[in-house]
Amino acid sequence: MKQSVYVDNNATTAVAPEVTEAMLPFFYEQWGNPSSMHTFGGGVKKHIDEAREKVAALIGAEHPNEIIFTSCGSESDNMAVRGAVDAMGGHPHLITTRVEHAAVLGPCHYLEDKGFRLSTLEVDDAGNLDMEQVREKSMSGKATVASIMWANNETGVIFPVPEIGNLIKEGGGIFHTDGVQIVGKLPISVKDIPVDLLSISGHKLHAPKGIGVLYAQRGTKITPHIMGGHQERGRRAGTENVPYIVGLGKACELALQRMEHDAEHERKLRDRLEAGILASCKGARVNGGGSERLPNTTNISFEYVEGEAILLMLDDVGICASTGSACASGSLEPSHVLRAMDVPRSMLHGSIRFSLSNYNTGEDIDYVLEQIPRIIARLRELSPFAND
Ligand code: PLP
Repeated sequence: MKQSVYVDNNATTAVAPEVTEAMLPFFYEQWGNPSSMHTFGGGVKKHIDEAREKVAALIGAEHPNEIIFTSCGSESDNMAVRGAVDAMGGHPHLITTRVEHAAVLGPCHYLEDKGFRLSTLEVDDAGNLDMEQVREKSMSGKATVASIMWANNETGVIFPVPEIGNLIKEGGGIFHTDGVQIVGKLPISVKDIPVDLLSISGHKLHAPKGIGVLYAQRGTKITPHIMGGHQERGRRAGTENVPYIVGLGKACELALQRMEHDAEHERKLRDRLEAGILASCKGARVNGGGSERLPNTTNISFEYVEGEAILLMLDDVGICASTGSACASGSLEPSHVLRAMDVPRSMLHGSIRFSLSNYNTGEDIDYVLEQIPRIIARLRELSPFAND
């Protein structure tokens, strides 16, 4: 029987009912412009301020005005990289890694094409960064802007951001980290570590799509990319998306309350899923499995099968997961993250990411564990390579 099991939460999450409820009055009742002089509009401003405080509390920011509301994680990443480079002036040296999200790699490559020097750091086969390389690049003698993610969206592997931040700051650079996948899943405190800029995306933590944040530590210079308005203290013009800002504030409040419980719940389910798949499918491996990882994510490669074929068969039985590889303009490109990790060729195309949320249950895991071995066995029967 077709049943719906959603295990693709690193792609997007369900909006929490409490979040929708918090947003509704700002569509129907309090829909004024927060910049208006009249009370009807201006009165809305305090709700934006409250949301700012809630976001700041979730990430341990010292001052709520370090929170800049944007439209999404991609905008925050672009704003961080291009805004920091622009504000620094001259031609700073850019440092990033091979496993970043396209929202960081895109602006980095754009700037490289414009003549900026770009160093792209390697990872090992467990997905970890070589810290010696970070040290060497950050001490290159030139002003640097480094953008190095906190947790990887495909494997869940966590980079040692406090240590990286120290190295970048020792070298006198600006440090941005893409926190889109870690914020709301694990506790972080930006005031205790040397992070200048951090990106957040609402729809990864049970707020709606279309709202994000760039945290900019007090004193960090960043050139706005949307100009022409005083909003967000002149750092990002445009009338505020009030309902979504309020929704994100609520989602952050919930995450702070529930994080410890949810992380434990997801870790237990994830570990059971992983162990069950490894026990029931020969030629399967967890990519980045030995590394420090997000509690909700597992990326599993199956030898001699195509990830896209697994996904389609999972979809047929009502399971929503994702492949590690992106289908770009009709060509099936293997994931740049798994390629950077030197995943063997026979496994590179056959990877699936399962990413859980607090809404997943033990029954969801039972159902996936019931379906996966059957699907893999069926695809291997059809594979010309599996039967060599
Ligand atoms: N950075 C990471 C690590 C992500 O996983 C994503 C989305 O998948 C983004 C940035 C982009 O976020 P958004 O979808 O809000 O633009």
